[in-house]
Amino acid sequence: MSEYSFFDSATIEVIAGNGGDGIVGWRREKYIPKGGPAGGDGGRGGNVYLVASQDHNSLLAFEKKRKFRAEDGLAGSNSNRSGRFGNDIEVLVPLGTLVYELNAEGTRGRMIGDLSQHEQKILVARGGKGGRGNQHFANSKRQAPYFCEPGEPAETKKIELELKLIAAVGIVGLPNAGKSSLIARISSSKAKIGDYAFTTLKPNLGVIDLGEGRTVTAADVPGLIEGASGGKGLGYQFLRHIERTKVLIHLLDGARALESANYPLRDYETVRKELFVYNPDLLEKEHLVILNKSDLLDDDLLDKVLLELKEKTGTWISTVSCATGQGLGSIINRLRELYPTLQLNSVNYFKADETPAIVEEVFSIDIVEDRFILKSPTIEGLLRVTDFENFSALSHLYAQLGKTGVLTALKARGIQDGDTILIGKRSLVWSDSIDGKMV
Ligand code: GDP
Ligand code: MG
Repeated sequence: MSEYSFFDSATIEVIAGNGGDGIVGWRREKYIPKGGPAGGDGGRGGNVYLVASQDHNSLLAFEKKRKFRAEDGLAGSNSNRSGRFGNDIEVLVPLGTLVYELNAEGTRGRMIGDLSQHEQKILVARGGKGGRGNQHFANSKRQAPYFCEPGEPAETKKIELELKLIAAVGIVGLPNAGKSSLIARISSSKAKIGDYAFTTLKPNLGVIDLGEGRTVTAADVPGLIEGASGGKGLGYQFLRHIERTKVLIHLLDGARALESANYPLRDYETVRKELFVYNPDLLEKEHLVILNKSDLLDDDLLDKVLLELKEKTGTWISTVSCATGQGLGSIINRLRELYPTLQLNSVNYFKADETPAIVEEVFSIDIVEDRFILKSPTIEGLLRVTDFENFSALSHLYAQLGKTGVLTALKARGIQDGDTILIGKRSLVWSDSIDGKMV
């Protein structure tokens, strides 16, 4: 299957903006040698949203661009000035896109959204909060706080998009039956027919006007060939698009009757079998059988083929010519009759979770040759803004180490006075006395 592109599912990486760091700063005014704390807060990092758009009908764009990064928040500055927020970004996806989180192993995790309505928006990566500047840490006992908070690291996620087209009418049939032609004739779809290779791979979506303000969306299922349900050909990739449809139009290539009058019926059975193997429920759907290319057949042959089809399929049958327009009106009329059936049921849709959980704070400790190697984004962030020359700043750091459970974990691993802790590029020396004071 590797020579084909599957743009009905795509894996992308969404990276929110980091929060800007708070800073340590002091008020400077004329004639006042040293004012109070005035370190501004960092700005929040930008969020990444997915937004459903009715103007998109494939995930093809994600073949080229897979990484989406929002802007980082800026650090605070002096005089209590907050850093600028990072800009959010919105990634447009087609209507009907399902969104899954990917686990660390790259396997599909929980569903985080089903974008079934135009402009529906879900948050997929939350920007880090800005760190607070030292202005916030002053109190009656501590008038000159020498510490601040780092910006919170951004959420980063790998997600999988899967496009299930929201079409009430699915058009199935073997290649060359005229599916793309039909959808172009009865809908406002701009489906291209023929030479451009991608059009045969891309399911075409079209909106059919049934009059009186009623419309229905149809999708064709390209590339269905015998064996599609077993993974042969492209059809398999697209079969899942029709699981949600309410009515199937089964289009048959009338030109096949010129070879043998019973070929259209055989083609019908071939496709029905494929549908059954993929998902037996598909056969339960209301379906219309339409013999295309009526312009190529004389009346006798047409009658013969129709009679046989009617007998064997027991369903609504009609002929059409996408070339001349014969029979298009009766398809529209039939869809009008079926309109109540064509309402998509809103309970099909999973309500998007607007607030994905922030990545849980985790740290790890490895011991390599008596040194304790601590990995933790939060603590590493805190180190970035900690002034090691300053005792109150260090106290704040140790207090945070206590709160996050790092100190307890280090002790459990047997750390002792004088041992070295490596955190990113920095090293700290463990002192039992500090531990005793702070925890
Ligand atoms: P699909 O593979 O099912 O999407 O089929 P297409 O819509 O691409 O049509 C296949 C071929 O049949 C194209 O060359 C069309 O021009 C042709 N075709 C489609 N409908 C008709 C029709 O009603 N009459 C005739 N004579 N040719 C048709
Ligand atoms: Mg086609």
